[in-house]
Amino acid sequence: MKKTAIQDLFAEIKSTHNPGKIATYIPELAKVAPHQFGMYYQPVSGTGFGLGDHKQPFSIQSIAKVFSLTLAMQLEGEALWQRVDVEPSGNPFNSLIQLETEHGIPRNPLINAGALVVCDVLMSHLSSPQADLLQFIRDVTGLPQLSFTETIAHSEDETGYRNRALINLMRDFDNIKNPVEEVLDLYFHLCSINMTCQELAQGFQYLACHGRRSLGGETLITTSQAKRINAIMQLCGFYDEAGDIAYRVGLPGKSGVGGGIIALRPDQYTIALWSPPLNPKGNSYYGMKFLEEFTTLTGTSIF
Ligand code: GLU
Repeated sequence: MKKTAIQDLFAEIKSTHNPGKIATYIPELAKVAPHQFGMYYQPVSGTGFGLGDHKQPFSIQSIAKVFSLTLAMQLEGEALWQRVDVEPSGNPFNSLIQLETEHGIPRNPLINAGALVVCDVLMSHLSSPQADLLQFIRDVTGLPQLSFTETIAHSEDETGYRNRALINLMRDFDNIKNPVEEVLDLYFHLCSINMTCQELAQGFQYLACHGRRSLGGETLITTSQAKRINAIMQLCGFYDEAGDIAYRVGLPGKSGVGGGIIALRPDQYTIALWSPPLNPKGNSYYGMKFLEEFTTLTGTSIF
């Protein structure tokens, strides 16, 4: 992996016009300075490196849904798949359309409806859901300083009409078992975590290392669970742009409306990108462009 080639690619992308639009439906996200762009590359063995604004914390939003899914798979096992499917949705992340026709069973755990069901499952298992989920995320990422960001959680709560519509529809289909406002509160907090590119790349190493903290290191989840989470990320991690990401990038990953993207090549590396302006599908414009060129340059698409 040639560092100078990656530096050149980063500089080249940064110099191009960015037609993306920052997410404004969560008022706190609308305040973020749009020109920021960071990248961190972390190989499974050896030292990583960052470029641009890689030390700047940002709202990881839906990227955190991978952590809640990891915990729910551990706690609920195969029974989880009776409550949520593993199919790409082909629809925007907050769409209500399929939920009605598919009887309140979300297409996958990484769209909003699916993540709300996952939060409901967690609430049924955990005695202090917020504290326990946060502790799990700290443990699995190896980042004990992580915390929820109350201003973001509050901002989402204030404008969370669509998430309220989703959860109430699922409650009507009996696919939400706990009080809807409590499940929403856990969900909004989950989406409120701030991380840097460096922390994200470090925190997702367990999925590049077959469920271990590092190759051959401490086991966090089983090999099979890691494989399945990667499969779900490949098919469902980039909103309704999953086909395009498989075609152009060829890595499992997850994006968030804060403009962050985590992607990984099992056995090789994790890579985190952040640039707030989003393309029409809701993925970071620069982030997607970088990843496409990056896997071509390095020959590391999984296909
Ligand atoms: N908290 C955001 C929402 O519920 C997450 C969206 C995302 O990053 O995909 O709308």
